[in-house]
Amino acid sequence: MTTFFVLAEPKGDGFTTTSLELLSAAAERGSVTAVTYAESATGLDALAARYGASSLIVLTGLGAQLPSAPVAKALAALVTAHQPDAVLFPASYDGRDIAGRLSARLDRPVLTNVTGLGADLTTEHPLFGGTQIAHAAVTSPGVALIVVRPKSFAAVEREAAAAAVTTVALDGDATTATTITDTTVATQRGPALEDAAIVVSGGRGLGQAAAFSMIEELAGLLNGAAGASRAIVDAGWVPYALQVGQTGKTVKPTVYIACGISGATQHLVGMKGSQHIVAINKDPDAPIFQSADFGVVGDVATVLPALIELVRARRNA
Ligand code: FAD
Repeated sequence: MTTFFVLAEPKGDGFTTTSLELLSAAAERGSVTAVTYAESATGLDALAARYGASSLIVLTGLGAQLPSAPVAKALAALVTAHQPDAVLFPASYDGRDIAGRLSARLDRPVLTNVTGLGADLTTEHPLFGGTQIAHAAVTSPGVALIVVRPKSFAAVEREAAAAAVTTVALDGDATTATTITDTTVATQRGPALEDAAIVVSGGRGLGQAAAFSMIEELAGLLNGAAGASRAIVDAGWVPYALQVGQTGKTVKPTVYIACGISGATQHLVGMKGSQHIVAINKDPDAPIFQSADFGVVGDVATVLPALIELVRARRNA
């Protein structure tokens, strides 16, 4: 049976959504040990088990250090001792950082930007904005280090007893230690973009930064999250945290509403897994309509206010 370590990144009292997706994907393919560096492990044994891990290793004593160097050092020792077939990392800032450092420590290659995983650990990598898929595998004997993109797998909850917990004290390294001196948490109303069931995104077709308020208003009325194309992030209309696409976030909501977005492949790759895609664009030949389930050919300046009124009226009815 294939044995996996999964880096379970802490978030709040649990793990990040991508970590839960990786635990589920690994559990479908073999036996799973979750490895985390959460400050408090309370309840994480049950959470790890609910997403398929039979054991949980908690690395303790991180304190105010950036996780990458000490966690990579601890993981190197754990991988050497337990010899898992693969270690899965979420493609997050810390996940990528830890994978790179572990690769250097173990002298093993890393497979990055992975969106699919075969039973034999063959990996899928989207290329050219997702229009082509490359398949790869680590063929040399030893552990496969695999960095997986968010939303590549579903996070599937199951009935399970708590995972067996082992604690390992992190061993600081003065030559690589980095201390976090300040943390800024971006204010967020409503669900996180990557977890929202409804995403309303705006693009250059909005015409001006102020028009993004219509996107936020509609998203708020639908209990969804606002997203954006890179064009308006680059223009400075909205922060990068809202960007959907190849170099932004990957979303898979039930409904994705693209407003004034052309549908470039780099945008599509971040949202084409949505269950239903609605597009509002004044150009009937805009590429986004080829991916849309429902299209409105019209000016966002007219269609969006009408839609907002309609939704508001329905909510108040
Ligand atoms: P445009 O392409 O300019 O489209 C605007 C659309 O609005 C048009 O279809 C137009 O018909 C319509 N429109 C205009 N006025 C109105 C109106 N009044 N009412 C209704 N519709 C109107 N892009 C991303 O989004 N995410 C990424 O992560 C990303 N990563 C990239 C990575 C690389 C390496 C590269 C090279 C590019 C990347 N891009 C990304 C950029 C991408 O190629 C496109 O340039 C970008 O998505 C275009 O944004 P847009 O659709 O808002 O703007």
